[in-house]
Formats: sequence, C-alpha cells, structure tokens
Amino acid sequence: MSIASVMTQSNKKGVFMNFQRLISQLSQFRFRCGCAEVYCSTCGGRAAALNQNMNSDLEHEIKQHMEKMTLDDLIEMKDWGEYLKREYKQEVHKIVEREAEGVDSTDITQLDMFLLHGRRFARSSPAYQKMLTEGVSLAKKNKDESLIETVLLALGERAVEYQDLLEVALEKSRNNKNLHRVLYNKLREAVPEVRGYVGKPNNR
Ligand SMILES: [Zn+2]
Repeated sequence: MSIASVMTQSNKKGVFMNFQRLISQLSQFRFRCGCAEVYCSTCGGRAAALNQNMNSDLEHEIKQHMEKMTLDDLIEMKDWGEYLKREYKQEVHKIVEREAEGVDSTDITQLDMFLLHGRRFARSSPAYQKMLTEGVSLAKKNKDESLIETVLLALGERAVEYQDLLEVALEKSRNNKNLHRVLYNKLREAVPEVRGYVGKPNNR
C-alpha cells in the first residue's frame, strides 16, 4: 500500500473521529415508531425528531463544529451532511468559502474536485460561482475532459451561454461517453447537435 493511500485512510478515520460525537448528538432523537432513518417519508425520520427537540445549546454546538468542517467532512457525514446543508445553509456556504480560498485555481485536479464536491452543497454561493468561472476558463484552455464534464454539470442549462466551451465539449464527446451523457442529459433541449450523436458508435 502506498504512503499516499495510507494517509488518505488515516485522514478518513480522523474525519470520522472528529465528527462522530456530533453525529451521535444529531442521532439521539427518535420518534415513537423507532425509525432509524435520517430522512423518512413516513415519519420524517431522525432529522424531524431532532428539529422538534432542537435547543439553543445544541444549535450552538453544531455551528461550532461546522467552523472546523471541510467539504469532505460533509460528504463523509452522508445524510447528516444533507441535513446540515438544509438547516445550516449559511454555515455550509462558509465551509465552501473557506475551501475555495485554499484551492489553487491553476491546478486542474484541485479545481475539478472542488467544483464537483461543492456543487452538491453550495452551488449558489458567490465563492462557488467565482471558482466556476475560473473552471470554465481553464476547461476551455486545457481541454481537460474531466474538468469539462464537471463544469458542464455545474452550469446545467446555463452552459448554452458558453458557446466556445460547448464546441470543445461536443468535439470531445464523440469519444467520451461520460461527456456525451452529460451533454445529452443537460442540454439535449437547448443544443440540437447533442441529439445528433445519439446511437452513433463511440469508436469511430
Ligand atoms: Zn420512519
């Protein structure tokens, strides 16, 4: 096993340890039905039970924990990360802002990861949108297929405003199934050329 993967594993464990106590606190309430889901369409789940029992001390503690969180932490927390996103929008935006400050926007991999993960939590935040603009420029310049895919996902239908990016994406999508799928899913209504590729073999 490489040193890098050992470090990743211990970091992951660290994340879990750091916020395990918080997750226990968030999970402490259940309805009488005993449902263990965080979100449940029948009873509302633990998230609804927690909201019913919320008090200012617990809220303060959650916010304190969130001052130390990263995007990775939110992802690791799974449904509870989703809960924080819904209930503590401002704090989640701050996490994204902090993380954006640490991203080297000339580094394709860093920018790609940030845009991919940040999209789930705070795509509307100014910090995210600023990095997305950087991502579009870099994707056009370097034509990196993974970054192109990520910025297309993040832009959604707004991608039609970036004609030069779309041209690069359309060209690359002839030999890249993922890219083709993203274009088709997001833009088949707005960009007729995307529909033209459907059913054509990928290995031309
Ligand atoms: Zn339930």
